[in-house]
Amino acid sequence: MVWVKAEHSDTNAIPVDLYVKTDKNSYARSMNPAILGIDASFIYNKGRFGNKERADADFMLVAAHEFGHSVLMYAGGLSLSWGHKGSTNPITQSVKSSTPGYPEKGPIDLMKYYDPTKGNADLFRRMVDSAAMDIDVKRLIWGAQIKWTK
Ligand SMILES: [Zn+2]
Repeated sequence: MVWVKAEHSDTNAIPVDLYVKTDKNSYARSMNPAILGIDASFIYNKGRFGNKERADADFMLVAAHEFGHSVLMYAGGLSLSWGHKGSTNPITQSVKSSTPGYPEKGPIDLMKYYDPTKGNADLFRRMVDSAAMDIDVKRLIWGAQIKWTK
């Protein structure tokens, strides 16, 4: 298991944009092309879900996915990152015909797209099952600037 400790810093912070959208009738998509490391715009869809818990859960899932694009880009380039590990066309982002539905049980890979017509999942209810896959954690460690301390 890997624990991540986030630290707030005013210097050398990762420059990302954060937007709060209060519109009840639309959902704005976050993005991180990851071409230059992290080049992200995160959108907290405050008004879309009708309650803070659901909006927070959505934001956590989406932010984890978008940060993950930088890890995949560093480890495997465009096809791995924009192609969502082979589940989408890297350019159009459309789900491939070979992409399976959500797994009925077990972990849901946050960095893959799934075909909901072949099997759907309540991501919020299964949030505990939605996690970085071991291979992606290894990719993150491999790409990190590690400082070993005693
Ligand atoms: Zn994505």
